[in-house]
Amino acid sequence: MRDDSPNSWEARADAHSFYGFTDLPSVAERGAVVLTHGQGPYVFDVHGTQYLDANSGLWNMVAGFDHPSLAEAAKAQYDRFPGYHAFFGRMSDQTVMLSEKLVEVSPYNRGKVFYTNSGSEANDTMVKMLWFLGGAEGKPQRRKILTRKNGYHGVTAVSASMTGKPYNEVFGLPLDGFIHLTCPHYWREGRDDESEAAFTARLAQELEGVIAREGADTIAGFFAEPVMGAGGVIPPPEGYFQAMQAVLKKHGIPLISDEVICGFGRTGDTWGCDTYDFVPDAIISSKNLTAGYFPMGAVILGPDLTDRLQTASDAIEEFPHGFTASGHPVGCAVALKAIDVIMNEGLIDNVRALTPKFEAGLAYLADNPNIGEARGKGLMGAVEAVRDKDTKTPFEGHLSVSERIANTCTDHGLICRPLGQAVVLCPAFIMTEAQMDEMFDKLETALKQVFAEFA
Ligand SMILES: *Cc1c(COP(=O)(O)O)cnc(C)c1O
Repeated sequence: MRDDSPNSWEARADAHSFYGFTDLPSVAERGAVVLTHGQGPYVFDVHGTQYLDANSGLWNMVAGFDHPSLAEAAKAQYDRFPGYHAFFGRMSDQTVMLSEKLVEVSPYNRGKVFYTNSGSEANDTMVKMLWFLGGAEGKPQRRKILTRKNGYHGVTAVSASMTGKPYNEVFGLPLDGFIHLTCPHYWREGRDDESEAAFTARLAQELEGVIAREGADTIAGFFAEPVMGAGGVIPPPEGYFQAMQAVLKKHGIPLISDEVICGFGRTGDTWGCDTYDFVPDAIISSKNLTAGYFPMGAVILGPDLTDRLQTASDAIEEFPHGFTASGHPVGCAVALKAIDVIMNEGLIDNVRALTPKFEAGLAYLADNPNIGEARGKGLMGAVEAVRDKDTKTPFEGHLSVSERIANTCTDHGLICRPLGQAVVLCPAFIMTEAQMDEMFDKLETALKQVFAEFA
C-alpha cells in the first residue's frame, strides 16, 4: 500500500520514472508496486509483501523468477564473451548455435533467423523485409500490411500501426497502408444466429473483399497472433487459419505468425501454429524465447522467404538492417538454455498437465453472473466482466471494473492485469497445482468483492 513519505520508493518512482501502459489514477491513489526480487512464480515488493504473479511478468517469465540454470547461462557467457554485434560478417558462436536451434524447432526444414531486442522490432524487421522484397521483385507498390482489430504487435511506429487498438490514435497512427480486419472473436463479433463456422467464413470473405478492393499486388503480408494476447486472450474461431490461409495463398500474400506470446509453450505446443495446425511463411518470436531473462526478439523465415530475401540481398550485396545488439551472445546463450529448459526440462509438459485444471478454474468463474465469457488456450486465459450477461452489456467505462478487480487482487497478494473489461491469467509454466488453486481462490475473492460493490 502507498507510503507517502517523501523518500518512499513509491514517491521516488513517481518523481523520476515515467509509467507506460499504466492507469495513472490507480497509481496516484495506490502508489507504484516497487519490486525487489522473485521466487518461483512469486514476486516481492520493497515492503516484503509477497505476490503470486498470475501474468508471469508480462507473459514471459515462464520459468519463474529464480531459475538457476538461466542465471548460470548468463553468468557463464558474460565471463566468456559479454557482448558483440552481428554486422560486417561477424557474429558470436552462441548466435550461430541459436539460429540452428530455432530452425530445428521451427516448422521448417530449412530457414534463416534475424535477431532484434524486442518483439516490436522483430515485427518492424519483418515489415522492412517485406518492403525490401517488394522493391527487389519489381513490385514497389506491394507495401500494405493486413492485421486484425485488437491484434497486438508492439509499440514502434510500424508495429503500433499493425496493432489494432484505438489508443494509437493519440500518436496519429496507424501510418498509411496498415489495414485492420475484423477481430476474430466469436463471442463479441459473431452475429445472432451465426454459427462459428459461418463467422469464420465471413471473416475469410472479408479478407477476400479487402484484397479485391486494395489489389493483391499492393499487399505485402498478413500478420496474426495464433491466440490474440494483449487484445484480450482471444482464441480464433474454428477453422480460422485454414480459411484465411487459403485466401492468402491464392493471392500470393505471406502469412506471418506473431508468436511472441504463443511461441515456446504457452498454448501447450512449441508454437501456436502447431496448436492451430497451420504453417506460416515466417514466425516472430520474443518473450518466452529467453524466458524473460534477456531482451531479445527473432524473425524466423521459412524456406520461401529465406530464398527470396537472400536473392534480394545478394542483388545489392547486403541487407541494410540490424541493431547494435542483434544476436547478442549473452541473449543467445540465455535463449539456448531457455529453449532447453522449456522443451526438455518438463515446462511444456507442465503446461499440458495443468491445462485441464486451468480450464476448469476458468469455467467455474464463468458461472458468475457478472462474467460474460471465460476463454483461453493452454495456460493463457481471460475472464471478461459484464453488467448484463444475456445482452453482453459491459460495465460503464468510468467504473474501471477490470482496474478495480486487478487492484483488489493486488490487495490479496495476486498480480493479474486488466485488459479492456477483462482480466488476464497467464501463469508461469513452473506453477504447481497448489499455486494454481491459490491464484483462482484469490481471483474469485476479488471478483466477488468488486461485483458486490456494483450490485
Ligand atoms: C509483447 C508483444 C509484442 C511486442 O514485444 P515487445 O518486446 O514488447 O516489443 C509483439 N507481439 C505480440 C504478440 C506481443 O505479445
